[in-house]
Amino acid sequence: MAATEFEDVKGFLPMEEAEKLRQWATLGAQVGPLLEIGSYCGLSTLHLADVAREANTVVFAVDHHRGSEEHQVGEFFHDDALTDDQGDFDSLPEFRRNLKRYQAEDVVIPLVALSTTVARHWTTPLGFLFIDGGHSLDAALADYRGWSSHLLRDGLLVIHDVFANAAKGGQAPHAIWQLAKQSGLFEEVGSFQSLRALKRL
Ligand code: MG
Repeated sequence: MAATEFEDVKGFLPMEEAEKLRQWATLGAQVGPLLEIGSYCGLSTLHLADVAREANTVVFAVDHHRGSEEHQVGEFFHDDALTDDQGDFDSLPEFRRNLKRYQAEDVVIPLVALSTTVARHWTTPLGFLFIDGGHSLDAALADYRGWSSHLLRDGLLVIHDVFANAAKGGQAPHAIWQLAKQSGLFEEVGSFQSLRALKRL
């Protein structure tokens, strides 16, 4: 399937980035299962699901579905359609609806929880890790520290929303990208728009 799919799925992943994400995920899927942090309504998840199915593996989709800071009521990225009966942010129904509509429930394993909590109990080695969760420094650092150690050798770490210019946002993703590069544990694979890929040595 082409990356032009899923145009009616809400999300923050331009089509060209989706295409690159699929290319890198295809490499990672040869090494082991895929895991993403930050699924929102499932746009990136559906792209990764295509790749996983092709490689006969799965996508673990970690998201508490209560939204990041910027999704909360009154914030810039809030979407009134994504609220529960209490008026609180909730992207899980929309996420499940999209998995069902695009028949991805067979290869996507939703983990509805804080990523740090899941990371603490995680034991399955991964071939591909997509960090696209909370963009506060605390959240991004916790995701990097909690999950990067679960990547297998030759597995790929991909980080979204990396911008060197603070005015464009993405300072926390940029910070963990720098950390990964300086750790000695990864080699750079490439950069594409706001995506950064590294390979676990
Ligand atoms: Mg993102």
